[in-house]
This record gives sequence, structure tokens and C-alpha cells, in this order.
Amino acid sequence: MLKIPLQSVSVFAGAEVSMSFLPMQRLSIVVPVLDEENAIGIFLERVVPIILDIGSIEYEIIFVDDGSTDRTSQVIHEAHAGNPAICMVRLSRNFGKEAALTAGLEAASGDAVIPMDVDLQDPPELIARFVQLWREGYDVVYGQRIDRASDTAAKSGSAGLFYSLFNRLSSLKIEPHVGDFRLMSRPALQATLQLRERNRFMKGIFAWVGFQSVGVPYARPARAVGASKFNYWKLWNFALDGLTSFSTVPLRVWTYIGGAVALISILYTLTIILQTLLFGRDVPGYASLMAVVLMLGAVQLISLGIIGEYLGRLYIESKQRPIYIVREQFGLRARTGTLHPVETTPVSATASE
Ligand code: UDP
Ligand code: MG
Repeated sequence: MLKIPLQSVSVFAGAEVSMSFLPMQRLSIVVPVLDEENAIGIFLERVVPIILDIGSIEYEIIFVDDGSTDRTSQVIHEAHAGNPAICMVRLSRNFGKEAALTAGLEAASGDAVIPMDVDLQDPPELIARFVQLWREGYDVVYGQRIDRASDTAAKSGSAGLFYSLFNRLSSLKIEPHVGDFRLMSRPALQATLQLRERNRFMKGIFAWVGFQSVGVPYARPARAVGASKFNYWKLWNFALDGLTSFSTVPLRVWTYIGGAVALISILYTLTIILQTLLFGRDVPGYASLMAVVLMLGAVQLISLGIIGEYLGRLYIESKQRPIYIVREQFGLRARTGTLHPVETTPVSATASE
């Protein structure tokens, strides 16, 4: 199934009539935004009618303003004035999408929560399908991109390479081409929020918590408006974060590489000794000597660099800084239905309600 057209959403809504005994459920949509003043209106126009069509659903749309420098937060304020279900968590600066997502997930009060991009690359029509599968008993319903036509060949190629490398190196398996677009039930969300690491590779964190999951394939459209906030350098660092967070193989492999090099050097030394005993002293070539020295130097530097990657992350983790800082928030509700007190304590000690 590629895309669910709007008509079939009304089919679900029709099905809801027979399910009208369902208690009111609460759905939170979490949308990290960075400089997206033009995208928010288009997003709301598409998403709100789709949610209203689902039936037996109360909703909130939490925008997390990740340190925008344009009118993004004013636009959200205006949207809130027109529709109190729209709320905002505004971070004190740009903390990155993963941190922004975490802020939104912590603020969410829903029985289920769906993180989405604001650029409509996560087709809103899928929300109805996600909710339907959640009501059937799945804790996690994730969207799986079946084609990445909207990405450049280099981006989709490197993504494919990353997934295969990740799944080879990590005992945790992540589904290829699954992004943050998914529905999580309250229990799955609570579990996700228990992972307090600062290095937040959300795809890995989502996969780590497990729960009964099902994928919904979809074609990823191009960005509705604006430009991507990720360049290749950011993506490379993101890939490094993912690998180092969920695998220690790159760190441990050096024992084996070192062992192999040691073995080879013992064999080579023995050969030299034998050669000297049998054929007398021989002055070996300068070139081979240089090659060995340079090769070993490079191997050592690479291994040091990899240790550095882990050590750096360990250092960051050990500081226990908050994942994000909230500057302003409004419209949020506590799980009990009362308004959240406006407080700037960023990360509650636990993810409890
Ligand atoms: N985003 C964010 N903080 C950042 C970068 C991006 O909140 O530092 C948001 C952005 O506004 C969008 C979503 O994350 O809603 C996905 O970003 P983008 O579309 O640029 O990423 P891509 O789809 O190219 O991977
Ligand atoms: Mg995008």
C-alpha cells in the first residue's frame, strides 16, 4: 500500500461508527520545527482534518521550536489562538532534531504519540492507518519508506550502506528505511523515555525498546516547502552517533586486528632469523621497511581515533547535562487533563507522568 487516499480515511471513520463504543482516546502529534514559518500552516491544513476524521480521538499537536530564528514561534502562537489543541515547547537554542523530538515526546499527554516532520514528507494520511493498527493491539506502528525517489542517489545509497553496516555491527537490528515517523502507544513511549542517553539516535532507541510492532509501507514525497536542514557532514556525524551508541564492535575489533598483526610479525621475524642463519646477513630494502612502519602507524592512528570517538561520547554522557532546555511552553496538558505548570526544568528525573 503506497499512500492511503483521503477517501479511505473516511472508510476508517465509517468503521468508527460501529466502534463508537470506544472510549475517547488521546493522540499526541509531536513535530520538531527549525525555521519552518512557511511549513506550519500547510502542515496544519493537511493534518487537522485527517485527525478529526478518525473518530473517538481527542488530539494535541505539539510543535517543538528547536531554536528557530524566523517567525516560527509566532506562527505557532497564532495557530494556538485559533485552535487550543496546538501547543508549543520552545527550546532555548537549536539542540538538534533528536533532542527536540525528545522534548516533544516528554511533553506529550496522549495515549498514543506520533512524531512527524513538518514538511509533509511523512504523509499525514497514514495517521488513520496507524491509529487503526494501534487499536488492533500493536504498540508500535512504523512507516517504512518503500522508495526514496525524493532523495538523491547519493543520499539513498549512503542510507542503504549505513543500515547494512549498522545491522552487521550491532546486535540490535533496525528496520532499513524506517525513520522517526511512527505511532507509539503510551507503554512504548514510557519505555522510550527511560533511555536517558544524551547521544540520542532515535531510530536505535525506538528499536531497542521492542514491543509488538508492525510496518506500514509508504512512498516518501519531496519536501512540501523549504529545504532540508541536514547536510552530508551532519548525516555523517549522525551515522557515527548511531553506530557508536549501539555497537562496541568498532572498539573491540582492534584486539583482533592487533592479534593478527602480531602473529604476522612473529612469522616474519622467524623468516628473517631463518634466512640469516641459512643464507647469512642480508640488508633488507628501505622500501619494505617504510611500508611496514607507515602501515603500522596508520593502523594505530585509526584505532586511536576510534577509541577517541567512544571516549568523547563517554565524556559528554558523564557530564549528565540536560538533553534540552525549555524557554517557553504553552497549551500542554498533563496526563490527568490539567494544564502543565509552565516550568523551565528541562528534563524530569524520570519519564513518569
Ligand atoms: N529539525 C529540527 N531541528 C534541526 C533540524 C531539523 O527540529 O536541527 C526539524 C525540521 O524542521 C523538520 C524535521 O526536523 O520538521 C526534519 O528535517 P528535514 O526535513 O530538514 O530533514 P530531512 O527530511 O531532509 O531528513
Ligand atoms: Mg524533510
